Amino acid sequence: MKCIYCGNEESKVIDSRSADETNSIRRRRECLGCGRRFTTYETIETTPILVIKSNGEREPFNTSKVKSGIIKACEKRPVSMHDIDSLVADIEMKVHNSLEEEVSSKKIGEYVMEGLKTLDEVSYVRFASVYKKFSDISTFFEFINDYEKFLDKKPIKK
Ligand SMILES: [Zn+2]
Repeated sequence: MKCIYCGNEESKVIDSRSADETNSIRRRRECLGCGRRFTTYETIETTPILVIKSNGEREPFNTSKVKSGIIKACEKRPVSMHDIDSLVADIEMKVHNSLEEEVSSKKIGEYVMEGLKTLDEVSYVRFASVYKKFSDISTFFEFINDYEKFLDKKPIKK
């Protein structure tokens, strides 16, 4: 996404949310070249996308299902609805931008994990424990250990 001020190609997303009526996602971006901020509206393709469940069944991709999974993981945690909406919008964008007609529920789970990882540590571990179905406690500890190392390098800013 080119910066509208200096033409730099690199920018980072600082906020994103669905703009429902227009079927697009509104994003605030910050240019990595000049540091100025601008807003983009990125259109979501409306081609229906199917989710392949672990048992091979297909169902239409449904953001409210993704959202309720995230809300469950974030219960009683200091994660705002705004953060959740923003994460859901990002996942929706990724799914539609993959240009595939089908996406596995596994892939969606990975997108959620990616988002929660840097958002809230307890929500991340909660979601992971459901999603990854740890077979025993040592696998679980291994996972926690890795995550602690990750957080040492990249602490969550509240
Ligand atoms: Zn710029």
